[in-house]
Amino acid sequence: MQTVESVADMQNLSRAAHRSGRTIALVPTMGYLHDGHASLLRGGRRRGDLLVLSIFVNPTQFGVGEDFESYPRDLARDRAVAESAGVDVIFAPRAGDMYPAGFQTYVDVERLTLPLCGASRPGHFRGVTTVVSKLLNIVQPDVALFGAKDYQQLAVIRRMVADLNMPVEVVGMPIVREADGLALSSRNAYLSPEQRQAALCLSHSLRTAKELYKAGERTVATLREQVTTTIAAEASATIDYIEFRHGDSLEEVAVANGHTLIALAVKIGTTRLIDNCLLGEE
Ligand code: AMP
Repeated sequence: MQTVESVADMQNLSRAAHRSGRTIALVPTMGYLHDGHASLLRGGRRRGDLLVLSIFVNPTQFGVGEDFESYPRDLARDRAVAESAGVDVIFAPRAGDMYPAGFQTYVDVERLTLPLCGASRPGHFRGVTTVVSKLLNIVQPDVALFGAKDYQQLAVIRRMVADLNMPVEVVGMPIVREADGLALSSRNAYLSPEQRQAALCLSHSLRTAKELYKAGERTVATLREQVTTTIAAEASATIDYIEFRHGDSLEEVAVANGHTLIALAVKIGTTRLIDNCLLGEE
């Protein structure tokens, strides 16, 4: 396994791989790896000859007052996780190389980025689509893997890749959870033991909505009330949004079906967590 910091070195490596007929799989991350990332890496290992993990805490996707500075970083630990997942190349560029002086070009996906996290975090998706475009241009992967944990992000990236005819296959991977249901996230590191317990209200609320749906409930207002009640019962929880949306268009729905997305953003103390499910999935 090798670690590459320079954009030019990464491009040369990718060019050499393609010339020798090898396919490339890319897993873009912000590091502080957990089993959710490891699952993406395993998926990438199966799909590409050369497995590239990018680690870059991307400043342009953080808003003013968000946690860019305090975002957890541990490259030594990430290297160990990457090694055991069979990563060939860690691409860990410096912010100054990704955004040199004079940088002024951004990628914007329109409607899909308006609701949900796009509404709560203005500019966030512009940063995401810009950095993912750059990573795809640098690494030139045949396949890139993203987690359904960031459901809207996955939808936005699929749209961007289709709209801009980017020659890459986007693969979405299921959410990896702790045994008790908490979706794995690098930001879980911010939680105290009490908050870690309180954070279970997100996955619990999704489970109760799914059960109601399974029992025949289709009215979104009723399902929403169930989710809201479950989360509001937790004193340290502040609801950012609870939304019921079409699983592809992300448009609001009033009547649920199996492809209805429930998307949550909830603050536990000062830590903002997201989770989601499709009502019809097991
Ligand atoms: P991040 O490092 O948080 O930017 O995440 C990098 C990639 O890992 C994104 O595609 C995320 O959707 C994915 N990811 C993060 N957490 C999980 C999880 N619990 N299960 C599956 N994928 C995840």
